[in-house]
Amino acid sequence: MSDGQGALKVVDAFDLDDELRTLLRPGDMLKDAQQRRHRLPRYFYEVPSHDFAMNARVTPHFALNEFTLVDLKEAPRLQQWPRYVPCAVRVLAFFLEQFRAAAGGSVHIAVNGGYRSPAHKMSESATPHMWGTAADVYRIGATILKTKEAIEKYNDIAEDLSDDVRVLRYGHITGTNADDHVHLDLGYITLIPREISEDRMEMPQEHRPRFAFEERRQRTDRRQPTEHPAD
Ligand SMILES: [Zn+2]
Repeated sequence: MSDGQGALKVVDAFDLDDELRTLLRPGDMLKDAQQRRHRLPRYFYEVPSHDFAMNARVTPHFALNEFTLVDLKEAPRLQQWPRYVPCAVRVLAFFLEQFRAAAGGSVHIAVNGGYRSPAHKMSESATPHMWGTAADVYRIGATILKTKEAIEKYNDIAEDLSDDVRVLRYGHITGTNADDHVHLDLGYITLIPREISEDRMEMPQEHRPRFAFEERRQRTDRRQPTEHPAD
């Protein structure tokens, strides 16, 4: 992930203040609509500002802000900066990049259609939106996704990408169907960045918060021909 302004900060949500921990609920178990229990994410990217989110590329065609667009349905504190988005969002962005290529058009994520915290008013039972691994897409290229024909067409394209991709069938039952967007998700993926050491206790830190910065890949160096060390 690159942003042109420095590395992206990874935080352990157990290190955040009481209000943020209460809203983000790191490590808590949550039941989905089928009563299956899933553990909420613990590691988040800290997004310092709107400008940063606009400029931070997760993949070539998706900026961080596209996954953090929320309205007043999100908890007030989580509408302020810095904001937090689960690290698994980068896996979602990778799949969306494949989806964009297969669909042959730019993919537009709706407001409230990316990450939604457990405190978001649309969050009832567990959905992958709370893991940062779901996207509600309302437009692809020039096509507004509100007809059965369009939604089914792009649902099929999304499902063909991988067995890990799930979509909501066209229909009118909230949570089960979608009738004005394509919902695609990867399930309940939690991502532990490689910079993180997991030997911490799952409780608020008593001293200074600890965090890591994601290592940025040196793309230009990687693509240069390998020089053989003189040995
Ligand atoms: Zn959705």
